[in-house]
This record gives sequence, structure tokens and C-alpha cells, in this order.
Amino acid sequence: MARLVMKFGGTSVADLDHIRNVARHVKREVEAGHDVAVVVSAMAGVTNQLVQWCRDAAPLHDAREYDAVVATGEEVTAGLLAIVLEGMEVNARSWQGWQLPILTDNAHGSARIGDINGAELIKRFKEQKQVAVIAGFQGVHKDTGRITTLGRGGSDTSAVAIAAAIGADRCDIYTDVDGVYTTDPRLVPKARRLDKIAFEEMLELASLGAKVMQVRSVELGMLHNVRIFVRSSFERPEDIDPVKPPAGTLICDESEIMEHQVVTGIAFSKDEAQISIRRVQDKPGVAAAIFGPLSDANINVDMIVQNVSADGKTTDLTFTVPSSDYERANAVIKKARDAIGYDVVDGSTDVAKISVIGIGMRSHAGVAARAFKALSERNINIRAITTSEIKFSVLIDAEYTELAVRTLHALYGLDKG
Ligand code: ADP
Ligand code: ASP
Ligand code: MG
Repeated sequence: MARLVMKFGGTSVADLDHIRNVARHVKREVEAGHDVAVVVSAMAGVTNQLVQWCRDAAPLHDAREYDAVVATGEEVTAGLLAIVLEGMEVNARSWQGWQLPILTDNAHGSARIGDINGAELIKRFKEQKQVAVIAGFQGVHKDTGRITTLGRGGSDTSAVAIAAAIGADRCDIYTDVDGVYTTDPRLVPKARRLDKIAFEEMLELASLGAKVMQVRSVELGMLHNVRIFVRSSFERPEDIDPVKPPAGTLICDESEIMEHQVVTGIAFSKDEAQISIRRVQDKPGVAAAIFGPLSDANINVDMIVQNVSADGKTTDLTFTVPSSDYERANAVIKKARDAIGYDVVDGSTDVAKISVIGIGMRSHAGVAARAFKALSERNINIRAITTSEIKFSVLIDAEYTELAVRTLHALYGLDKG
């Protein structure tokens, strides 16, 4: 007998038929004798609709009311799944974030979980074999009592946090793909499913654009050593072999993985924008004059490239920001023009960041150099580069995203045979 968290994403609970399918998955685990906490997302498209309503109501709205609205999607699914489970004679009840409670800070719209009390759930497992159906994505501020949400994709984080709180043996993430692939299988049909991936690699993949897991959920998994298993909810529960290990990807500690490829996966993100400041004065303090005001405006700068000036007077400086912050970043730079001293600013939102990730890069030289060559052979121009211990990223024109990802996927031997 094990204690399990089962998390189902939006497409897996898209309508009542899907919710019935989810209930059968839950029933299968309950009948196998396991204690089960289920975490659900809002039905596919619902959160987008709720977000849109907030924007239409007022473009600049109170973040606390935004959370009050967008948290409701998950509440509907949790209640419906509990109803369906009861109808299947599985003892179940729904829980909203404030009822457990799932306590968070007050960063409305992207709150962080501080504490979850798992005692009541454990008591109910023991005394009544009751399944807990928990609304994902939401919590409650520890002081004000106001509803908070955890950022888009946040149900993954709810699931892993609950798994840690109840000491679950495993956190199963049921989604619309049967695991974590070498890259997004929607873009590259030749992508391969990974049997295992290390937390650190998954963290990089997620933060560099692979939305299969929310970044914060992987951080929490790493911190609390939660075994996370990504698998498909579309498999019919009746077809699952109770003995054979199911298809999926285990996200686990690096030490559990015997063989490391040099490159594990490739991520891409089109949510980037490039800003170039032309003929900036090449003198001490200029970087501070540029990046200080951006940071004060809460704008995250990612890649930075600065040339060494030929004449010792002026140079060009390029950096990237999230595309949603592009206009704001431009305004900040223009406002700080006197302090910085430059000629013109230009930029583009038609750029994409392609990232190559692998723990094996720690011990292999020349991995990035091969990519630069392969991209140049495809006539893809690199606008900026960043590297770190287990990854490197290149910024390119967005129109070449697919070509670049496929080229690198083949280059590092990731294509399925
Ligand atoms: P859910 O609604 O279940 O949370 P998401 O849409 O958030 O599901 O995440 C699953 C999607 O992530 C997949 O449909 C897939 O297109 C995308 N994805 C991106 N990169 C990867 C990857 N490396 N492996 C698997 N899926 C990926
Ligand atoms: N429903 C939320 C979203 O769409 C949370 C989630 O699905 O994980 O972002
Ligand atoms: Mg998701």
C-alpha cells in the first residue's frame, strides 16, 4: 500500500467524459489499496476565459480580485470529480485551498506556497479511506485570508507541495503526453520519451520553455525529494497492466540515473524580446545605468551581449526581456537616456530562444560549438548566446524556431530511430 498524489491537467478534465475517465484512474489506485490525494486543474480553456474576463472588466485590475476570479476554475473540477467518484462508490470529498489550508505569501497571481497542513488528509485516509480531491493552482494568504493563485500551470506545484506535505510515495502527473520528451513532441514528431530525467535538467527544460511542468513544481520536488512521474491520462484505466511499469518519465535525483547522454533535451521559447542599445558610451557605470532601472521596474533581463568598442568610446549592447515586458522595457530605457548616454534603441519581439540542456555538458567540451556550426550551415543567424554549466541558449529569428530545434535534435542524436 502506498500513498499517492494524482494530478490531472486541463485537457485531462476537459469535460464530463474526461472527468469520468479520471475517476476511473482514481478508482483503480484506490482499489489497489492506495491512499489517494487528487489535484485537478480547471477544465481546458476555462482559466484563459477567466483571465480574459478580468482584463475586459478593467485592464488594470486589483490582483486580489483577479485571484478570486481565476481560482474558481479548479473549484468546479474538484467538486465535479468528487461527485463522479461518489457515484462510483468511492468515498471522496473536494477541498479548496483555504480549507486545507494551503498557505501562501501575498504575491497575488504568482504566490508561493509556505505551508500545507497534511494532517487532516492523513487522518481521513486512515479512518475512512477517503480520497481528497483538491483544487490545484490556489491557496490562501496566511495573514489576510485572501485567495491566491500560484501562476499559470500552478496545479503542478500544488500537487508536488501536497505530495511533500502528506509524505507521498509518488506524485503522478497525468497529462496529455505520456511523459517528458527530448523536446516538445508537438513540434518534433521524432522526439523521444525519456525514462528518467534529473531534477536539475527538468528545472532547466521547464524554465527555458517546456511547459510540461511548472518550474516551481520541479524546484519543490528537488527540495523535498518527491518522486514525480509524468504519464498520460488518455490511457484507458482498464488497459493498464497492474504489474508492468507504466509508460512515463520519472523525474528524480541525478544519482538514480545510470547513463547520461551529453544532451538530454531541447527547449524553446518565443516569449522573448530583444532590445539593442546602439552606440552606448563605453565607460564604467553604464551597465548599472541600464540594468538598475530595469530591475527597479521588476523587468527580468535574461541574455546580455556587449561588444568591446573599437574606438574606446561607444559600443552596442543587446539584451533580452520577456516579450510581455518589451514595451515597458523600451520606455524605461528611453526615460534613462540621459543617464545612460546612447544613440538609438531598437529591438524585436520576433525572436526565439533555443536552449540545449544536459548534465553531460559538465564533462564534455565543444558541445555548443557543434550547434553554432550546424545552425550556420542552415543559414540561421545567432543574435545572442548564453551558457552555463548544464545548458546553453541561442537567440534567433522566430521564423527559424522549428528548423533550429529539429537541426539540433538530430545533431545530438536525440531523434527516435
Ligand atoms: P496540463 O494541462 O496537463 O498541465 P500542459 O499543456 O501544461 O498540460 O503540458 C503538457 C504539454 O507540454 C504537452 O502537450 C506538450 O505539448 C508540452 N511540452 C513541451 N515540452 C515538452 C517536453 N519536452 N515533453 C513533453 N511535453 C512537452
Ligand atoms: N488552470 C491553471 C492554468 O491554466 C493552472 C493549471 O492548469 O495548472 O494555468
Ligand atoms: Mg500544465
